[in-house]
Amino acid sequence: MSSLIRQEGYKYSFNPSACKECAGKCCTGESGFIYIDAKEIEGIVTFLDIDKSIFLNMFTITNGSRVSLKEKIFEDSYDCIFFDREVMGCSIYEARPIQCRTFPFWGYFKNQIDELKEECKGVSCV
Ligand code: SF4
Ligand code: SF4
Repeated sequence: MSSLIRQEGYKYSFNPSACKECAGKCCTGESGFIYIDAKEIEGIVTFLDIDKSIFLNMFTITNGSRVSLKEKIFEDSYDCIFFDREVMGCSIYEARPIQCRTFPFWGYFKNQIDELKEECKGVSCV
């Protein structure tokens, strides 16, 4: 039996078992930014066991002063550079950024629940 996740201040819940059938909609589709800070960079570098400068060059872009993971285009989808289409999942799951860990409980979506439900089938208003 799966358990719903709720978070104070949000008028919706999230059912993580929905991810099994979803095939990573939140990691693919429209272009966007997945921001990472210095601590997250260190975590991913350690997880991948590569040099930080190689990681930054190969897997990230900058947007102003912020660092984001790159995207790769698959058909008409902008996939996160770390989305693995063979397994339809995150290849750095244990070290994934906070932005990914906290989805779908983002402040932006507090008042955009219909938009969020279009994006994420695990969300419901209960
Ligand atoms: S969009 Fe929602 S259901 Fe789909 S993988 Fe992401 S969190 Fe899971
Ligand atoms: S880092 Fe992983 S969880 Fe986050 S968007 Fe990329 S593939 Fe998805």
